[in-house]
Amino acid sequence: MNPNQTVEDESQPSITAMTRRIQRLSIHLTPLPLFQPSPQLNMLTCAKANKLEFDKGSLSSYMRGKYRESQEKVLEFFKSRPYLQTPIEISMNEHRELCMRQLMALVREAKIKPFRYIVEDPAKYFAIAEAVGNIDISLGIKLGVHCSLWGGSVLNLGTKKHRDKYFDGIDNLDYLGCFAMTELHHGSNVQGLQTIATFDRITDEFIIDTPNDGAIKWWIGNAAVHGKFATVFAKLILTTHDSKGDSDMGVHGFIVPIRDLKTHQTLPGIEIHDCGHKIGLNGVDNGALRFCSVRIPRDNLLNRFGDVSRDGKYTSSLPTINKRFAAMLGELVGGRVGLASSSVGFLKIAVTIAVRYSLLRQQFGPPKQPEVSILDYQSHQHKLMPMLASTYAFHFATRDLVDKYSEIKKTHNEQLVGDVHALSAGLKSYVTSYTAKSLSTCREACGGHGYAAVNRLGSLRNDHDIFQTFEGDNTVLLQQVAGDLLKQYKDKFQGGPLSVTWNYLRESMNTYLSQPNPVTARWESADHLRDPKFQLDAFRYRTSRLLQSAVARLRKHSKTHGSFGAWNRCLNHLLTLAESFIESVILAKFIEAVQNCPDASSRAALKLVCDLYALDRIWNDIGTYRNVDYVAPNKAKAIHKLTEYLSFQVRNIAGELVDAFDLPPYVTRAPLAMKSEAYAQYTQLVGF
Ligand SMILES: Cc1cc2nc3c(=O)[nH]c(=O)nc-3n(C[C@H](O)[C@H](O)[C@H](O)COP(=O)(O)OP(=O)(O)OC[C@H]3O[C@@H](n4cnc5c(N)ncnc54)[C@H](O)[C@@H]3O)c2cc1C
Repeated sequence: MNPNQTVEDESQPSITAMTRRIQRLSIHLTPLPLFQPSPQLNMLTCAKANKLEFDKGSLSSYMRGKYRESQEKVLEFFKSRPYLQTPIEISMNEHRELCMRQLMALVREAKIKPFRYIVEDPAKYFAIAEAVGNIDISLGIKLGVHCSLWGGSVLNLGTKKHRDKYFDGIDNLDYLGCFAMTELHHGSNVQGLQTIATFDRITDEFIIDTPNDGAIKWWIGNAAVHGKFATVFAKLILTTHDSKGDSDMGVHGFIVPIRDLKTHQTLPGIEIHDCGHKIGLNGVDNGALRFCSVRIPRDNLLNRFGDVSRDGKYTSSLPTINKRFAAMLGELVGGRVGLASSSVGFLKIAVTIAVRYSLLRQQFGPPKQPEVSILDYQSHQHKLMPMLASTYAFHFATRDLVDKYSEIKKTHNEQLVGDVHALSAGLKSYVTSYTAKSLSTCREACGGHGYAAVNRLGSLRNDHDIFQTFEGDNTVLLQQVAGDLLKQYKDKFQGGPLSVTWNYLRESMNTYLSQPNPVTARWESADHLRDPKFQLDAFRYRTSRLLQSAVARLRKHSKTHGSFGAWNRCLNHLLTLAESFIESVILAKFIEAVQNCPDASSRAALKLVCDLYALDRIWNDIGTYRNVDYVAPNKAKAIHKLTEYLSFQVRNIAGELVDAFDLPPYVTRAPLAMKSEAYAQYTQLVGF
């Protein structure tokens, strides 16, 4: 058999293949009008054996969520205003100005009020933010810095007096703001930051100072050009007038005006520099801030978790610096929730572009026969089909995270708060890392055409890349997840309460940690491998083993190396544990979403995709399962064969599956995503 020959080619009579080839050629000769999706491509790819038929419309409605109309309103607004659309070639300064105009137009002309939604309906805010990011990721980030970071810090770290004073100005963009946490010497280690805010009892003011160059606030979004205010994170210093001298009460947020509201001049004592041209996100003006004895009223302390009275006394309901710090960071998780859900949005766009191109593109084929679609190559399916399955999986997992976040904003349920904190850290890091890698894979899967800027993969890749770092570096965030799991493990054995997501540990830890069952280790039927119970058990077994061995290793190493040294010696293990846990959360949510899908045919399609997601992950980690005889050699082979089969089945409906994302044409405007008229649009673009 020719290595290029596929299973499908063997089973297709050559006359059918010829007809398909002629049909495809005719598409190039008679191009369809721009931006009109054509059913032709799907018809062409339908001629597949055992193709699963499903109701694309039903699946689409199931995926859409209730804010689709709000998202479409955003997209329509920009689509109808070409002067507000970001061109492919634009200088940094023009891009920044355009981004500011886009934000103003969104809020003041289209009357879309993202800041208000943060309070009234957080899920709507995330949906709007995702749509705005589809216009230009820079715009999405500029909006996020203003509404979620600056505005969110005022809402969540401040009290009523702050909301009353700043809400309207933030809402209508008069008070465009920044979130100034990171310093030149301290990024991930926020507790190490050095900016200080000293209380002056005589004038009833705080004095903000940058004590050395390492404490200059760096990378601050909206600071270089547009920001009027900043929430500045600084160590609160109280002079005690006793033998102790000064007391450091830990990191607090302070509202600091940085530019004059009328003249836009930088205010006295503040020095602002531009962080310059970046790899991506050049529509956002990141800047560096230095403070030299900048005085602000005592009221500007965001005092929800700690306050200073007129006579300089500190009060807080939380007893220690660490508890206050944790409470403060806990209130800022909204940014991570937003990044995780927007990242899935970009993954959807990239997968849609790559799948549509790969269905249409033909290269090589059996001797003297027509060329085949590149998506018929097993290697190409291997690149794109598990990615398509992961996109569906992440969609449901992040939607659940958004729902949980909205719920804690309403109910303040303590257990759920802890859950959302760990889940947002885990999903943000897992999803953004996966998307970053996938954006490169999609570019490569589209060959040279993927490199044309008009096809968006380059800007998506560059703009999205930093999602892995800001709002918490992914490696650092995964350690928080591992830390949480270890705490839950300890609580379990000490009989403490477990939070919602972690409950399975209580229910099943003992089962998972018992020896693998030698009988089920040999079961290899497709029914068994596609049983959600087998899949979830396998994911959870892996997590439980990793957790148990991490505990043992940490215990052993801490005796000789102390807790920091022990943690560092087990770090890779702990990161694998966190990823394994997040994968099992994602799978559980996907299985739930399949079961809840009301339309039977859509449910069958989702089940296929979910099985591919689960078995591909198990196969990727087959060494771990084999090492402990969780699966016997023949079962491992069966998993591999079934994964390839499922990948092929998903390939047969890949066109419909990306259609079901229901991305409006504006979003998939890359010529490669234009289905059958791709080449026509492409040739027009370069002037033919
Ligand atoms: C475009 C852009 C916009 C930004 N916007 C803002 C903003 O508006 N406001 C703001 O306050 N900040 C902002 N930031 C800063 C951003 O939040 C920080 O860059 C981020 O928190 C990471 O900090 P860092 O850059 O100091 O990296 P570092 O912490 O120095 O990390 C560098 C590397 O070290 C690794 N590392 C660090 N600690 C550990 C550890 N404990 N274990 C293992 N590995 C570790 C990391 O994984 C990473 O690979 C922005 C940054 C950029 C680039």
